[in-house]
Amino acid sequence: MTAEVIVDIAHGEVDRIFEYRAIGGVCEGSRVKVPFGNRVVDGFVMRLKRNSDFDAAKLKSILSVVDEVPALCAECLSLAEQISVRYRCPKALVLRLFLPGEMRKGAVRELYKTYVLLKDGAFEPAARAKAQAAALAFLRENGKYGYTELCGRFGRSAVGALVEKGAAELTKERVIRSPYVAVSGAGAEHTLTAGQKSAVESIGRSDKTVQLLHGVTGSGKTEIYLTLIADQLQKGKSAIFLVPEISLTPQMLSQLRARFGPQAAILHSGLSAGERFDEWWRLRMGEAKIAVGARSAVFAPVENIGVIILDEEHDGSYFSESNPRYSTLEIAKMRAEYNGCKLVAGSATPSVETYLKATQGEYNLIRLPERINRKPMPEIAIADMRREVRRGNNSAFSAALREELAECLEQKKQAILFLNRRGYAQSVVCRECGYVAKCEACDVSLTYHSEENCLKCHYCGAQYRMLSACPECGGVHLSYTGTGTQKIVGELKKMFPSARILRMDNDTTSGKEGHYKILKQFADRKADILVGTQMIAKGHDFPAVTLVGILDADMSLHFSDYRSGERTFQLITQVAGRSGRAEEQGKVVLQTYDPENYILRFAIRYDYEGFFRHEISLRKSTAFPPFAKIVRVMVTASEDADALEALRAVYFALKEIYEAHREDFLFFNKMKSPIKKIQNKFRYQVLMRVKNDALLPEIYEKALACPVRGALVYIEENPANLS
Ligand code: ADP
Ligand code: ZN
Repeated sequence: MTAEVIVDIAHGEVDRIFEYRAIGGVCEGSRVKVPFGNRVVDGFVMRLKRNSDFDAAKLKSILSVVDEVPALCAECLSLAEQISVRYRCPKALVLRLFLPGEMRKGAVRELYKTYVLLKDGAFEPAARAKAQAAALAFLRENGKYGYTELCGRFGRSAVGALVEKGAAELTKERVIRSPYVAVSGAGAEHTLTAGQKSAVESIGRSDKTVQLLHGVTGSGKTEIYLTLIADQLQKGKSAIFLVPEISLTPQMLSQLRARFGPQAAILHSGLSAGERFDEWWRLRMGEAKIAVGARSAVFAPVENIGVIILDEEHDGSYFSESNPRYSTLEIAKMRAEYNGCKLVAGSATPSVETYLKATQGEYNLIRLPERINRKPMPEIAIADMRREVRRGNNSAFSAALREELAECLEQKKQAILFLNRRGYAQSVVCRECGYVAKCEACDVSLTYHSEENCLKCHYCGAQYRMLSACPECGGVHLSYTGTGTQKIVGELKKMFPSARILRMDNDTTSGKEGHYKILKQFADRKADILVGTQMIAKGHDFPAVTLVGILDADMSLHFSDYRSGERTFQLITQVAGRSGRAEEQGKVVLQTYDPENYILRFAIRYDYEGFFRHEISLRKSTAFPPFAKIVRVMVTASEDADALEALRAVYFALKEIYEAHREDFLFFNKMKSPIKKIQNKFRYQVLMRVKNDALLPEIYEKALACPVRGALVYIEENPANLS
């Protein structure tokens, strides 16, 4: 028997099958140690073969098998092949996605605990061995007890004597380090409303793999997901439940735990290495049936999948930002097809790409146009900030928002204020010479943080001392442009001195449970106002929130990105959806300098269809996704010259495709990236807009085959971030 092995080295040159002689215990999917050159490396067994083309006697032998149970299941192996072809990515790199990172490095192991087990019940210790007698009596009562604990009670020598005389024995048992999830009362099962029931039925009846659940915020999508999962568990199947950022949705977790108990395993970056490892093995062994997590949970080791849920389908976090740059929806679809199950993608604001496919009949479209119990959507009022400025109001708060806040506080309700950036001010500019403070390692301007009185780079995290004078001209008139969460909190404190205010952004949420603590405080009504960035837009259900303020609706409109309109619509709808979720009617104040903007007009009427029709015709006439694909080949290197040389090689290789298929290209050029340097790496790109997806494999092939000394080349499709 021989084994086809992929060695765990992420390099194109060794990205092929190596054959080894199999040893006992080797299965398809096993991790193994193999001799490679003059080293011993880890490898993955892709296939076992009875007949090899090679003379088995001449092959080197596998040295050992790493795990008792193969870490990768048959589906994972097949999926890995598919992903590696799709994204032109070495198989080793793809296979790593299927394992918890620490496990690969051998940094975590199973945790075992030693127990003392009663063996010979008839044994009687000598009369003077009082401790032995007591320990024995205790064991008779308890049957089995932790070794350390038993020694703590009766002494190590007494316990040792019992074992030595055969009265008791030691056993080792696996301990599961389960992450703690607070279970609130949120687990109550609801009787489905008529709308929810017909959604579940429609999904059951449909013959399509992808089901798009388009339900307004508060329409009860979660209950539908839970029902679908419960149905599949009953049939003995498993499920994957994907959410955008799991640490931001503790409510969802407690709901899952309350409903499904230990059947739900949680995979997220906030867990300790041991916890993640154990949760992963619980899934692999079938002890847990539901994998819950952010995008990487799409690789969860569950078999026999009955349903895959992708909540908040439109969310940008579903695109990977490191190789392979996969789309979670795409991988989830591959898994659904392999298992013959449904992929249910849900959102109040589906991405226009997904929605187009749904309206064209490729996906099944299910609509939930109303909130549970016909609760009205919160009313969105526009505050025209140009008028505020004309009236002499230079604060970040319109008169309307200020009044609503006062009323909200008076009625002892809660408010959420949403802002699109963090920090105190956007950047520091010298008013005399125009100097802008920039990061030394990245080509981006620094952001002032008043609490620490320092400047921070939001790309690499570097901190700089606050400037007292301009380093260019020595001028002392430095101005801070823009508004950040810290500044808003400062203004709020002046306006409402007795209000209790919480701030949530990247600066306040460090640490394992940073998000959780802030959200919990707010949920427990320990604060009246929550000020935050994107993080507070998602999925939260705070019943006491009756007011939402969107401080700068225009921010995301000004990004030079074809998706900025779509993002703004999504953001407004999501944030507004946090208001008035319980009995009280909710309100939203949306501040803007551009009140006539069509995106805002659609958003305040909750008119997704109208927005979609407008947006899709715009995309069509300008030939942007989904009517064309933006392909960016990035080239980065520590030395500018290396990056340039690599760029040239890549550009000329791709140009051949461009010359041969000019009619399929809407754009083709090489250039510096908008941010020329990040973390001391110089960045260049070949940017393309391509009408024909059939050219993609060739583009990948040519771009990645270029010899590029010292440089890294990678490819992005419709990148979420063009910086
Ligand atoms: P969505 O995910 O669509 O924004 P949620 O799933 O958070 O909406 O549901 C909104 C609220 O309605 C939640 O508080 C939820 O507990 C409640 N809810 C959901 N389904 C029902 C039901 N069938 N009957 C009563 N309340 C429900
Ligand atoms: Zn930096």
